[in-house]
Amino acid sequence: RAKHAGRGRAMHYEVLMDDDRDARREMEDALRAAVARGEIDVVFQPIVRAGDRTICGVEALARWYRGGTVPVPPDVFIPLAEATGVIDALGPLVLKRACEAARHWPEIGISINVSPAQFRNPYFPDQALAIIAAAGIEPSRVTLEITEGYFIQNPGRARLVMDRLKAGGVRIALDDFGAGFSSIGYLIRFGFDRMKIDRSLTVAAEQSVKGGAMLQATVALATSFDMPVTAEGVETAEQAAFLHLCGCDQLQGYFFGRPMSEKAMGELIAPQIDVQAAAG
Ligand code: C2E
Ligand code: MG
Ligand code: MG
Ligand code: MG
Repeated sequence: RAKHAGRGRAMHYEVLMDDDRDARREMEDALRAAVARGEIDVVFQPIVRAGDRTICGVEALARWYRGGTVPVPPDVFIPLAEATGVIDALGPLVLKRACEAARHWPEIGISINVSPAQFRNPYFPDQALAIIAAAGIEPSRVTLEITEGYFIQNPGRARLVMDRLKAGGVRIALDDFGAGFSSIGYLIRFGFDRMKIDRSLTVAAEQSVKGGAMLQATVALATSFDMPVTAEGVETAEQAAFLHLCGCDQLQGYFFGRPMSEKAMGELIAPQIDVQAAAG
């Protein structure tokens, strides 16, 4: 009897695993179909100058509503897209939408996230430059954000792809610094145009004096190697003030604005563009 119960449990477990696999497969199919139909939304979050808090850029973030209604978090569907090759269609779709939106927002920088899986694709640099050119915006307004992973795994190849993009005028930012394990001393040699520090560094800075010193030293080192620093995940006025004091020249986070629709972003930027037009 005990043996039977044990076997029952084991079978139940296998059934669950099958269910998981089926669910994942179904989600993969749904994502692939949604991307093929262009049913991926792009939202925009403002990035402000630390000094006067005016908007200097926006980060494009992908959104997927499964079946048109159920939001699936990017932390779920982006890894799925990377693992299944769907990223090769999703990445260019987001880049295209983001650049087309940016065309209406003169002077504003546009940042787009790029997966290591895209960096691995030999066609990626030329394809990205072609999409930017077709959208009719200056490549220098575009920043591609990439996390450290691929630069650690395959530094030679990553360097080639980065140089090709930079030769095309695009900027490259190191995303989520402080969330991984790499040393800033190692990463500095790649010549990123900008560093974005992860929210966890800001949280650590609030929790201890050493955390604060760590953040200050990181920003100082990055800046001295010509990498200006954007702080991500800024949620309070106190954080914004401290990060500015530490030398971050750009700030991004819920305190300044949540990710929003293209229309809402346009309305937020409009007064600023009018002022610039009147001044110039
Ligand atoms: P990320 O590039 O580091 O983007 C910042 C994430 O932090 C976004 O989450 C944003 O909504 C969130 N965030 C912004 N301000 C705050 C804040 O004040 N507090 C907190 N707690 N969070 C804040 P989201 O949109 O869920 O995206 C998560 C990640 O998914 C992104 O992290 C990025 O790595 C990836 N991702 C999103 N869209 C794309 C895409 O089009 N392509 C690729 N390859 N990855 C993408
Ligand atoms: Mg990012
Ligand atoms: Mg980030
Ligand atoms: Mg992140």
